Amino acid sequence: MFKIESFSAYGLSSETLRSLERIGYVRPSLVQEKALGHALDGKDLICQAKTGSGKTAIFAITIVERIDAGSSGIQALVLAPTRELAIQVTNEINRIGYYRGIKAITIYGGQDIRVQFKKLKEKPRVIVCTPGRLLDHVRRGSIKLDDVRFLVIDEADKMLEIGFLDDIRFVLRRVSDDAQLMLFSATMPSEIIQLAKNYLKNPYVLRISEDELSVDHIHQVAYKVKEREKLRALINLLYRNKSKKILIFTNTKKFGKYLFSKLKDKGFYVRFLSGDLKQETREKILYWFRRKGSRILVASDVASRGLDIVDIDLIINYDFPRYDKLYVHRIGRTGRFGRAGFAISLVTPLDEKYFQLIKSRNNIEIKNLR
Ligand code: AMP
Repeated sequence: MFKIESFSAYGLSSETLRSLERIGYVRPSLVQEKALGHALDGKDLICQAKTGSGKTAIFAITIVERIDAGSSGIQALVLAPTRELAIQVTNEINRIGYYRGIKAITIYGGQDIRVQFKKLKEKPRVIVCTPGRLLDHVRRGSIKLDDVRFLVIDEADKMLEIGFLDDIRFVLRRVSDDAQLMLFSATMPSEIIQLAKNYLKNPYVLRISEDELSVDHIHQVAYKVKEREKLRALINLLYRNKSKKILIFTNTKKFGKYLFSKLKDKGFYVRFLSGDLKQETREKILYWFRRKGSRILVASDVASRGLDIVDIDLIINYDFPRYDKLYVHRIGRTGRFGRAGFAISLVTPLDEKYFQLIKSRNNIEIKNLR
């Protein structure tokens, strides 16, 4: 699936290679493969990539590798829209910087500012901030942007949604012209393109389309069943895959809800993700699902939009999707980063014509349910 087979192709330091090995990154993801070389060459970057694509490591590796160990001052600044993302990014930088001794700190709104003054006194070279709080520090003089050589704007579209556009401009105007700018965004609204035009110098532009998602490495199986056998078939499958993290797709929210209650009654460790949930509730469910261990999530396509969980062991199409793109999109949520992926579809006589079409484009093995 990937052309570049290993991180050693980038001429990274032995320390960084060791860190990557330690955290289990064997080969670059698609976005990493396309953008990491340019980032390491010092080019400005605009990258359309979602959470889950491995985008964080692109700038984390670049920062860790290219920072000047001899000089002090804040050399790398990452802007992230939310506290959660800021913490996540800090962790990634720290894991990748582990053997080079590079440590980032997080500065976010909501935390006691005195705690942050203290952290800043220790002269960090890499900081990850939410915009509002960063500006607060810049205005108070506790953060200086003069030495920043790497500026990353992560999830730029989300920042826009929250209303941070002016804050981003404020920062962009204040960092040195020589700084390397890297902008990441899942979508490219006109404001983001404008920002890039105004501030990025001859950037490398990367846009990854959904079609580039390859699912060839995923083991795909279909069971032909009668409509009335479906639930029993599913429950059998769940018993057989007890220790796994499983995502079950239904075609409608209504049926998803019904299926969820059936599974819950049977004693399965299950949650239901529906499209009309409040963001906070949604986050809670996803947090639950991301945690280690076996769990089952039932979702419809709408609800699962933008859902990024790396280690889903098994996707089950309880309802068979109606078109190929959707099928690929659903099953592409397992088997990421070269991990083994597994997808099972239940196919009824009513699904047959869709199944034939989708099967002609994907490598699906037909099996009998016993
Ligand atoms: P991100 O899109 O940066 O949030 O990354 C999504 C997930 O993929 C994170 O859990 C990373 O730890 C993981 N990841 C990133 N790059 C790799 C890689 N090359 N190999 C395996 N896992 C990776």
